[in-house]
Parts: sequence; structure tokens; C-alpha cells
Amino acid sequence: MDTLILTADRLFDATGGPTIVRPVLRIDGESIGSVEQGPRPPGTAQFEFPGCTIIPGLIDTHVHLVFSAAATNAAVIEQVGRESDEQLLQRALANARAALHVGITTLRDCGGKGRITQEVRDRIRRGDAEGPDLLCCGMPITTRTGHCHWLGLIADTNDEVRRAAERMLAEDADFLKVMATGGNMTPSSDPMRAQYGPQAIALIADLGRSVKKHTAAHVLSRSALPGAVLARVRTIEHCDWRVEENRYEYDPELARRIIDQEQYVGLTMSATARRAFLPQIASDTSGPIRRLDMRFECERRMIEGGIRFVLHSDAGVRLTPIDSLAQGLRTAVLELRLTPAEAIRAVTATAAEAIGLLDRGTLMPGKLADLVVLEGDPLSDAACLERVRAVMKGGQWIKR
Ligand SMILES: [Zn+2]
Repeated sequence: MDTLILTADRLFDATGGPTIVRPVLRIDGESIGSVEQGPRPPGTAQFEFPGCTIIPGLIDTHVHLVFSAAATNAAVIEQVGRESDEQLLQRALANARAALHVGITTLRDCGGKGRITQEVRDRIRRGDAEGPDLLCCGMPITTRTGHCHWLGLIADTNDEVRRAAERMLAEDADFLKVMATGGNMTPSSDPMRAQYGPQAIALIADLGRSVKKHTAAHVLSRSALPGAVLARVRTIEHCDWRVEENRYEYDPELARRIIDQEQYVGLTMSATARRAFLPQIASDTSGPIRRLDMRFECERRMIEGGIRFVLHSDAGVRLTPIDSLAQGLRTAVLELRLTPAEAIRAVTATAAEAIGLLDRGTLMPGKLADLVVLEGDPLSDAACLERVRAVMKGGQWIKR
């Protein structure tokens, strides 16, 4: 077994403890051996990163590898419809590779077409393609004209919902994804309305649980939130509390149940949230952007109330390239008033817990050696998240 020794100015292990100054990190094979301060053991490979900080590999829990991140949602939908399966596969492979090179060592894909994302996952696991470790849902379950119906997995009745979920499990999905409300991206759907009754959501989540797989529910208004809570889906994607066109209503009782049931919410730091960084968003007057202050206020209440949260990019949707997660994290620091440490924990330790991958997410002995080396100190300046010096996945250098 190969042993590597890494040194840097700082190491943030994401366990909640303080930053370790002048760390000596030992990698044994594919795992973290030890994290110490002090003199280096002699006779092992040395990798010195002066001026740098080592953090765990990033985990983006909601992306769409087959999407192009074009300038408008209509253009993304058109692209997905126009490209052949082979083109979509090549696009997904390129996106996966780009993600890894900015330090994202684990991805969860929340909606692809056909079996393309499973194929990407399997090629990466076999070593035939370079990319993060990937969890995928295959296609998301949705209604005939519902959000992302153009990805192709339609289910209207409870019987159809059951068959759709069974089909995804048969097609080797790692988890199930249901569009519990409409989405902003799909004009024929209504984000304000629940697409399914609580029974259908519970049916999917129960079926997943019966084979130890979790369910993610897309919830873009409060209409579907009680159903997602009742069904105990593992992750509530977006978790939006909007009750009317321009009114949000936070419900502390519902929030309490989310905490008690150990559910996780995924806060979406896609381009729509990035008004501080993207001029074309700052000048956009569409609803989701006009409502950002109200949205962020609800997200702040969830965080202060103690709801477990992750930050995700929803990469692939308009203006949100797969390698821009760092910009999303900087947005969360600015708009949700998180410390950089809180933002990093949300895409490492907490993200790993949320999707049930307990072998990663922190730099503790025994965990997978997935890590990123950043120039500078990201704990005092989140902009350093964009300055990637090196990436290691499972003890192997990807970029150095
Ligand atoms: Zn999405």
C-alpha cells in the first residue's frame, strides 16, 4: 500500500473542530491514515503546499449532467430534446470530468435522460472515464405535462407512480427523485401546485426504503411540503415555502418535523441566486429573482431553526455550469450570512450524511482520501474556493 504525506499551511477537516495549522496528512492507499501536527515521518513521498489549505473533496448533491447550462431554460430544454443519446452521454462525461477538476469528488445527479447517467457512473467506477463518484436517479418521476416531463418518465396515477419507481430501481438507480411540484424551468408545469398527493410521494419513498435507497423530492412551493414531510423523503430539494405568487409562509411546526425526522433540505445556489456575481441576473426582473430576498429569509430561518441543510448548484440549468459550485458557495456566504466554514461543511460532511455516504465528507482517519488543496485560506475568504491547486480522489492525484 502506498503512503503519501501532504503538508500545507492549514487543514479544515469539516468535523466541526478548529482548523489545524501546519498539518501533516498521511494517506494510506485510498484512505486517510492520520492528520497530525508536527515533524514529518521520514522516508515517504512528500507533497508540500505552502500557502495552501486542504479541505475534504466537495459533494454537489443536485446536478444535471446532461444539461448544457445555456443562457435560458428554453434553450436547455431544446438542447436536451435535440441531442442524440450519444451526444448527451459525451456531454455528461465532459461535465463529470470538469466537476472533478474543480474539486467535486462526489456528485448526485438529480435527473437525466434514459440510462445515460448510470452509464457515466459505471464508466467512472470501472476506470474507463474520469469523474467524481456519482449517484444517480436515472430519470425523475413527473406528471404528463409536469416539471421535466421532457426527460421522459411520466406517471399520473398512483399505479403509474409505483411502476415508474420500480422501473428506476430495475434500471439500477441509486435513489429515487420525484417532482413533487411544478418547476420554473417547465412552462407547462406550475411551481405553486403539488403534482402528486401525499399518498403517491409516500409510495415512492416507501418503495425506496424497502431496498435501502433514499428519495429526493423537488419542492418549489409549500403546496407539496406537508406530503414530503409525511413521506419522510430523505432530501427536500429547494424546500421553498411560497404560498402565493409573492408570499412565503414559514411554518415552525413543519420545520420541527423535518428536524425530528432527520430530513435534509437542499438549498439551491444556481445562477438564479447569484445576483451578486452575475450582472445578467442582477438586472433580471423575473419572479424567482424578484423574490430572492423573501426566499433567502426563509432559508435563513431554516438554518437558524436547526434544519440540516446542504448547498447544491443544480448545475446544468441556465447559466449554471458544472464547475461553478464555488460561486454558489460564495453566494450562500453572502446572501445566507453563512461563515465560509458553514458553507464548506454543507458541501462536505453534511452532504455526505444527507446522501448516506458515510465513508467520506471529512478528513478523519479511515475516510476516503478525497480532498482539495486550495490556495490561500478559504475559511477567511470564500473566494479561495475558486483557487484549486490540487485534487485527490480515493488517494489518487487528479490534478496537481
Ligand atoms: Zn434540478
